[in-house]
Amino acid sequence: MSEFSIIEHYFKTITSSHLSTVYGIGDDCAISDIPAQQQLVSCVDTLVAGRHFPMDTSAHAIAWRSVAVNLSDLAAMGAKPYAILLALSLPHVDESWLAEFSRGLSDICQQYHLDLIGGDTTQSPTLTISVTALGFVPRGNFITRRGAMVDDLICVSGHIGDASLALADVLQNKSSPLQMALDYPQPQTGLGQNLIHFASSMIDISDGLAQDLGHILAQSHVGARIDIENIPCSSYLQQLPLTQRIKHQLTGGDDYQLCFTIRPDLYQQFCQQYHLTPAIIGKITAEPNLQIYYQDQLQQINTKGYQHFAT
Ligand code: ADP
Ligand code: MG
Repeated sequence: MSEFSIIEHYFKTITSSHLSTVYGIGDDCAISDIPAQQQLVSCVDTLVAGRHFPMDTSAHAIAWRSVAVNLSDLAAMGAKPYAILLALSLPHVDESWLAEFSRGLSDICQQYHLDLIGGDTTQSPTLTISVTALGFVPRGNFITRRGAMVDDLICVSGHIGDASLALADVLQNKSSPLQMALDYPQPQTGLGQNLIHFASSMIDISDGLAQDLGHILAQSHVGARIDIENIPCSSYLQQLPLTQRIKHQLTGGDDYQLCFTIRPDLYQQFCQQYHLTPAIIGKITAEPNLQIYYQDQLQQINTKGYQHFAT
C-alpha cells in the first residue's frame, strides 16, 4: 500500500467539517481562518512506542492518547480545540493496525469536534506519532502558569494517580481496573475554557502533580501547601498503603487532569455558575516551596515526577 493510498484511506476522511478549515488534507499545506477576536493556540507532542506507551497498547488507544495529550495542553491554556496535524512514522504497513488507529483518531476527533487538516507519513524502525494541535482562545484571555497569588486555592479537575497505578499494574502483567484511565485520558477542554476569567494560573498534569504544580509555583514566584487526603482518586488507589498512594498521586504521570489556582471568592462564584465543585487540594503560600501534609502532619517526600533526561 502506497503512502498516498494510506492517506486517502485512513486519514482523509477524518473531519468534523470545522468552519475554520478552508482547505484540509490534499495540498502542500492546510489553510484555516482564525475567528475574529481570537488568538491561535498551538502545541505538539510526540509519542514513541515503548517509551510513552507499552508496546502492546491497542492502535485505537494509541491514536486516542496521541491526540488527547495535546488537547490537554490546549485545555490548560483555556483554548477551544480546533484541528490537528499528524506526523506518523511506521515500521511497516499493517492494514488492520492502521484501520484501528484511524478509528481511534476518528473517535476522538468526533468527541472533541476536531478536523485532521494535514500531516506526514513516513517509515522508521520505531513507531512514532507526533500530533500538532491547534485551538483558539478569545484574544488576551488565555490562562498561563504565571498568575498564582498568595492565598489562592489549588484545585484539580479529577482523579490523580489512577493512570500511574494502571501503568504499574500493566508493567507487572496484571489486569487493572484502571486500564481505561491509562488508555483513554479525557482532556478537560470544556472546564479549561470555563475557567477563563476565574483561574489565576493553570497547567495540565502529565508528569506528576508535584512536578507540574511546581512549574506554576516557579513561574508565579510563590509556594504551596497541599493536603494529600484531599487529592481525589479511585477507591482502588485509596486502598494502597499511604507511601504507595503518595507516590502515584504526586509523582505518577499520565492523568491529563487540570491543576489550577483560583481566588476563594471566584471559586465560590465558579461553582455557582457552573454547578461544579472542583476538588480543593491546597493553597498558595508566600513561602516559596511545596509543602505536603497528611492529616495536618508535614511529610518529607521526594516529589520528582517523570523526566526524560534525568541522570
Ligand atoms: P508533501 O510531499 O507536500 O509534504 P505529502 O505527500 O506528505 O505532501 O502529503 C499529502 C497530503 O496529505 C498533505 O495535505 C498532507 O498534509 C496530508 N497527509 C500526509 N500524511 C498525513 C497523515 N498521516 N495524516 C493526515 N494528513 C496527512
Ligand atoms: Mg509530506
